Amino acid sequence: MRPLVLATCLLTALSACKRTDAPPTPAAADKPAATPAAPANPANDNLNAVAWVQTSVEYRALSEQTYRAAAEYLDKALKEKNWDALVPEERGNAATGLKPAVVLDVDETVLDNSPYQARLVRDGASYDEVTWDQWVAEKKAKPVPGVVDFARAATARGITLLYVSNRAVHLQAATIANLKAVGLPVASDKVFLGLGTVVEGCEQHGSEKNCRRRLAGQEYRVLMQFGDQIGDFVQVTANTRQGRDQLYDEYNDWFGERWWMLPNPTYGSWEPALFNNDWAQPAAARHQAKRDALDYAP
Ligand SMILES: [Mg+2]
Repeated sequence: MRPLVLATCLLTALSACKRTDAPPTPAAADKPAATPAAPANPANDNLNAVAWVQTSVEYRALSEQTYRAAAEYLDKALKEKNWDALVPEERGNAATGLKPAVVLDVDETVLDNSPYQARLVRDGASYDEVTWDQWVAEKKAKPVPGVVDFARAATARGITLLYVSNRAVHLQAATIANLKAVGLPVASDKVFLGLGTVVEGCEQHGSEKNCRRRLAGQEYRVLMQFGDQIGDFVQVTANTRQGRDQLYDEYNDWFGERWWMLPNPTYGSWEPALFNNDWAQPAAARHQAKRDALDYAP
């Protein structure tokens, strides 16, 4: 979970916020192309995204079709003894002969935290560790559509589910309780690899998951990985649009077979990539950087 939400306009003021995406007037169209300045009182960045996740059948369909398609690949992945979903740099040992597992991120991959996001929209607030920890402690997150059926199919085939999450290790007990409550298997405490997990001989940088994936690979052949961000699958050494594009192009063939991406429009590492990963900037500057990143098709 990363700092996520810019919230600078209370819902009560939304009706007063003018749309800024209307076609330009003829006079404005004659001026040189420039990104319009953000309105002084902009709408909450996350309102549409959270509403989409919580209310649309389109979100449900995307998630369910992803997990259904993945389940169709389980037998093929099991049968091909060299099938492995870790990149070579993170596979420190031979995968052949190891027990099968799948690696899943937790937030917005198996657990839906949109009620927390909704509270931030309602309250005009931004992500912080205090309110996040409180939400996790409530253990009210629901499963992402499709994941429980997928987990059932994997478990029936003797495949272990490993949860590689950036929830901090002190949230392990509440997270495991929430996973179990929604019907997801948790074979033991060891299948939760949270942020702060110590991996001998591997230095973890920030919230990167490469060390924990390497640890998972020591014991398991990883048939598939599931996530809502590129960093859930492979180490991101440059969180820029170009760096992310390069990774996506390099592993494009893996998506839809070994790697499965879940939809999450509400937050993610794609967002700070638009403002140089500098969360210390004022909210208005980050907001403007995102506006500058849009394609206005002049
Ligand atoms: Mg996630």
